[in-house]
Amino acid sequence: PASVMWFRRDLRTGDLPALSAAAETGVDGVLGLFVLDESILGPSGEVRRDHLFRSLSALDEQLDGRLCVVRGDPVSMVPSVAAAVGASEVHVSADYGPYGRRRDAAVAERVQLVRTGSPYAVAPGRVTKADGGPYRVFTPYFGRWLDHGWRGPAAGSADAAAWLDPELPARVSVPRPAASGGPPAGERAALERWARFRDGDLADYHRIRDRPDLDATSRLSVDLKYGSVHPRTVLADLARMRGAGPEAFRRQLAWRDFYADVLYHRPDSARRNYDSRFDAIRYDTGPDAELSWAAWCEGRTGYPIVDAGMRQLLAEGWMHNRVRMIVASFLVKDLHLPWWRGAGYFMAHLLDGDLASNQHGWQWTAGCGTDAAPYFRVFNPTTQGEKFDPDGEYVRRWVPELRGVPGGAVHALKSGRPSGYPDPIVDHAVERRESLARLGELGR
Ligand code: FAD
Repeated sequence: PASVMWFRRDLRTGDLPALSAAAETGVDGVLGLFVLDESILGPSGEVRRDHLFRSLSALDEQLDGRLCVVRGDPVSMVPSVAAAVGASEVHVSADYGPYGRRRDAAVAERVQLVRTGSPYAVAPGRVTKADGGPYRVFTPYFGRWLDHGWRGPAAGSADAAAWLDPELPARVSVPRPAASGGPPAGERAALERWARFRDGDLADYHRIRDRPDLDATSRLSVDLKYGSVHPRTVLADLARMRGAGPEAFRRQLAWRDFYADVLYHRPDSARRNYDSRFDAIRYDTGPDAELSWAAWCEGRTGYPIVDAGMRQLLAEGWMHNRVRMIVASFLVKDLHLPWWRGAGYFMAHLLDGDLASNQHGWQWTAGCGTDAAPYFRVFNPTTQGEKFDPDGEYVRRWVPELRGVPGGAVHALKSGRPSGYPDPIVDHAVERRESLARLGELGR
């Protein structure tokens, strides 16, 4: 029989256990399938759609032009394509997100769906406390995650399949991106990006990962999002290395698995407070709140590091992790606007927009998520800027109005503001007190 390899968040051919499984069954050939699903494409921002299309082109090239792309609802499309090529099984990497689980359950009612592997080193649901329950705090999860371990890379999957190339009426060509630019997409680009980082900044990662001015993180988030590289491939390299840099990097990869696990156990937390005590918190509403929202979105708050971050997001579709925390804290604790509005804006503009990491990165910062942060932690955007962008280079890179201000003085702007750069839209000291008062009303 033939088989189908239905690609979703695993746009590669190397180290892909589901492909090895598809090749084993598909002795008469494997159909490589991707479904353009409006339920996913619609809410994706343009940058993410473009990156997806470029990743699909790269995958199609690896399959010698044989990637079969169709458009529609996977629940009907996947079984009908499988039937058209006479495939007895459809192979996938398991999807643990709320939508993906519902979709796959519906597909599995109509066709034999075989799940092998997942986009994670340790799949959601595998790391549990002694009582079988899920972890709510990262550090103990991390300890168990290390103990649990993961499979070694799936050797040989890249050459395993004889790809089918049928004429199907539903087949469409790989869509063209709407805009040019963005980081190179696809498996080869991802492996090159990883190798460059591994042989370069990784050794110092523990010391420089919090410095947005140095731009010294891996930028692998986009590749991990689309599965152009699997974390297992990266972890296998890390296992051969010594030192604090590789260790710190491995810990960050575990955060990705942790948040996927949290969302798996609490799918409602994609939209609602993980800690329901926060349901009662007061947010600002009305015309002034909308003006603040617009200033935040466009990087016009008058707080240099916040504005730099928001402008980097719009220009690059990416923002440094430290700055994500600063701008998120500013929206929730200085502007008193709900975290889910900011999370939605991030999802519309991030190349690496990932429901689990994004919604829980936001909730962690807002204090209503896992790892319940002390409620009094309100990031001071000025001192955060001075600490993590000490020479002001990150700010000057993204806020041209401030290019004439030398060194770290660019954060506090004590000698005045260049014309064209806005005054602060709020007073941080005042809003910090307001934020603590509102949290106090929750009885915390
Ligand atoms: P590196 O520092 O090189 O880290 C390597 C990898 O580890 C990352 O690619 C990522 O897969 C993982 N990782 C690192 N930090 C985290 C973290 N805090 N949580 C989860 N995984 C992590 N990450 C996303 O992939 N998608 C998102 O939509 C997203 N939204 C975020 C929103 C907020 C408010 C915050 C605070 C964080 C968010 N993150 C998100 C996590 C983190 O900011 C990014 O993963 C990181 O900045 C990506 O850059 P990098 O690949 O160079 O990171």
